[in-house]
Amino acid sequence: MSKPALFGLTLNELIALAKEEKLPGFTAKQISEWLYKKEITSIDEMTNLSLKVRQQLSEKYCFGLSQPAKVSESTDGTKKYLFTTSNLKFVEAAYIPDNDRATLCVSSQVGCKMGCLFCMTGKQGFQGHLSAGEIINQLRSIPEWKNITNIVYMGMGEPFDNLDNVLKSLEILTSEWGMAMSPRRITVSTIGVIPAMKEFLERSNCHLAVSLHTPFDEERRMLMPIQNVYPIEEVVKEIRKFDFSGQRRVSFEYIMFNGINDTPRHVKEMSRLLNGLQCRVNLIRFHAIPDTPLKGSPDDVILEFRNALTAKGVFTTLRSSRGQDIQAACGLLSTKENMKRE
Ligand code: SF4
Repeated sequence: MSKPALFGLTLNELIALAKEEKLPGFTAKQISEWLYKKEITSIDEMTNLSLKVRQQLSEKYCFGLSQPAKVSESTDGTKKYLFTTSNLKFVEAAYIPDNDRATLCVSSQVGCKMGCLFCMTGKQGFQGHLSAGEIINQLRSIPEWKNITNIVYMGMGEPFDNLDNVLKSLEILTSEWGMAMSPRRITVSTIGVIPAMKEFLERSNCHLAVSLHTPFDEERRMLMPIQNVYPIEEVVKEIRKFDFSGQRRVSFEYIMFNGINDTPRHVKEMSRLLNGLQCRVNLIRFHAIPDTPLKGSPDDVILEFRNALTAKGVFTTLRSSRGQDIQAACGLLSTKENMKRE
């Protein structure tokens, strides 16, 4: 059996580890600096720890970084990294450079339980949670990690179905002893798992993105089974209890499906649902996935929809499509790899 990893431990966990190993308390801080701020990949390279301490740690623990198994690069500069997980499955992360920004889209689970009709990851089913270390490894083990300005939890999985590990990864990313990123540069996306979403909003300062996709109950049930448990009306009601008037942001993701959710009726209902809430709507083009009857709305319909929402006072943006030539549709690449292994 492989040794437990240091990478992915919080400062408190490292303090407990130092105590157990009878090491001075400050060793925990030194280790966290090596894990989360420096360019090293082994315990051996933690040179401000004595040789004896390094040997003692190496006997029981490994550093815990895992290099990408594969990388695909798009003609537009987007890269898709494939990682092997501890249960020998695959997840992926997408690196998306854009002028002075570089966004990394990370996965939080292998597969997903939520079964959304339009999603390749959903078709794969659930195959395991990622640990906090496996989530941050997607950042720390790619060559561009020091240049990343923004992180979005929009890859494979429903982050709030793996809340403890996601919160732990956010703690490491945003703490001074960790990667010291601003929470304003991190967005966690959910389909609206209300209890976990509430806990996230209370315990973290990161931005929230909610997958809306249609304001109508029947349609949303068809697209996203979660609507049967947590209706979007209730999700928005819960969000209204939190303050988004300052720097913290809530956005609503809206994939445009031809003839399904792209009509004036939808514009009207969306503006009612979101009325008075400080938020933005991100419209997303749908890229066809195998075995689904869904098709993306044409560009002119999308633009009309955006203009109509804007006219109703809903701040609306259109997300540009990136990395299409490397199958950047969420979950496509890793799902194929996982299915090959079954
Ligand atoms: S859209 Fe998100 S929540 Fe729905 S099945 Fe895909 S990964 Fe899961």
